[in-house]
Amino acid sequence: MRIVSGGIQHETNTFAVTPTTVDDFERDSHFGADFGEAEQIRQRFDGTNTIHGGYLKGAEESGVELVPVLNLRAYPSGMVTRQTFETLVNELVCRIEAALPADGVLLDLHGAMVTEEFEDAEAEIVRRVRLLVGEAMPIVVTLDLHANISPALPVVADAVIGFDTYPHVDMGDRGYEAVLLIKQIVDGDVKPCMAYRQLPLLTLPPMQCTLREPMDGFLRYLRQLESQDGMLTATVAMGFPFADIDCMGVTVVAVANGDQGLAESVVDELSQHLWKLKEQLQPQLVTIEEAMVQSRSTDGLVIFADGSDNPGGGAPCDGTVALAALIEAEFEGAVVATLCDPQAVRVANQAGEGACVPLSLGAKVDDLHGETLEVDAQVVKLGDGQFVFGGPMAQGLSDTMGDTALLDIKGVRVVVTSVRKQCIDRNMLKVAGVELDSVRLLVLKSAVHYRADYGPYAALMLDADTPGVHRPDFNCFNYQNPRSQECYPLNPLAKL
Ligand SMILES: [Zn+2]
Repeated sequence: MRIVSGGIQHETNTFAVTPTTVDDFERDSHFGADFGEAEQIRQRFDGTNTIHGGYLKGAEESGVELVPVLNLRAYPSGMVTRQTFETLVNELVCRIEAALPADGVLLDLHGAMVTEEFEDAEAEIVRRVRLLVGEAMPIVVTLDLHANISPALPVVADAVIGFDTYPHVDMGDRGYEAVLLIKQIVDGDVKPCMAYRQLPLLTLPPMQCTLREPMDGFLRYLRQLESQDGMLTATVAMGFPFADIDCMGVTVVAVANGDQGLAESVVDELSQHLWKLKEQLQPQLVTIEEAMVQSRSTDGLVIFADGSDNPGGGAPCDGTVALAALIEAEFEGAVVATLCDPQAVRVANQAGEGACVPLSLGAKVDDLHGETLEVDAQVVKLGDGQFVFGGPMAQGLSDTMGDTALLDIKGVRVVVTSVRKQCIDRNMLKVAGVELDSVRLLVLKSAVHYRADYGPYAALMLDADTPGVHRPDFNCFNYQNPRSQECYPLNPLAKL
């Protein structure tokens, strides 16, 4: 059995000002301008906790010949340009065509890509692959938990499998599941019947987390339903709220074996259950001043999760609101990680380790994340920013923050990077020169993902009340699309 796999992943924050181009996909995919060959894709993802890592493992164990033709991602940012989308999707379709004949196609997509032309870019990708391979060939799509799934996607895919967890620690498992499912479909052992429902419900990152209630309990319920006889898989995509598009929000997908009625009833049960939890899904935000008070009275590490400036959701990661308050308080033992400012890193590099330099720091991308700070900083450590994920998320994958500079400003340390990167892994702090046990109050530009690796070391984790394009607060965004206005909580009277 020969299965072709491909992927293009982007989570698009339509409120972010920087558009996403081919250069971003080239740089962030680590393959260079030719987008990589099958062998390079295997080398990069084999043995990693990623979707393609799961595809490779599942294929090897089940005797499937997997032909990875492409796997590109750009770090979350603004709208994907029309030309970028056409370039990438044409490349994907041409490479799949060159790899035919095959028995099936696996597509490793995100689900929240928005382009200048398409609000649900994934549905368009799958539609074009479907046009190429015809109706008979199975296409199984894997998606992120933050997918905004429009009704167009289930029409063109045979099965959709989304991550169950947030932090996304089950990427490898979902890729593995996808290979086994497509093998069963090709063998004729199962016949997928998919049901889909869009809920009038919008949710925000802090409370989408499946390590907290109510989603921890809901995840157990989901797994119970999807493991019953006749079911193949079920997905609750919580949606990516920082996109002003019609299909933004929660969707439920269930795939049963030959039984459309069962799939529909599972979708209905999951929808009803989640709807009852909607009031519990609203986050409580805490200011940096309150976090400092709490840190002083807490024995152990306090994490201030500055999700409003989370680069993993398309924010610039150069916000200064929390940093400015910490410097003002000269809060000894505070660390801010990370702050992306390539210009400041260059100045620090020219000055060298141990030097004290005047710097203009942060808030250079837009005017939504605080003000640029004029500081005198001591350069504590310089580095190349290369690291390997050691925590549960993306474990084994190598990545980079670009050149880094660890600065000390009035006792407050800041990890300044040249590349935007969400600080979700303790190895990132380590390579930048920060030992976690030296930190009392840690500001991470992360909403939830940090919990997978840092959570066990924290005495207290707080959701930050800071401004930004990833702020978990619907009142801060002026959604123009009419559907969002009709959904809970923007419409408190919304009905399921
Ligand atoms: Zn996600």
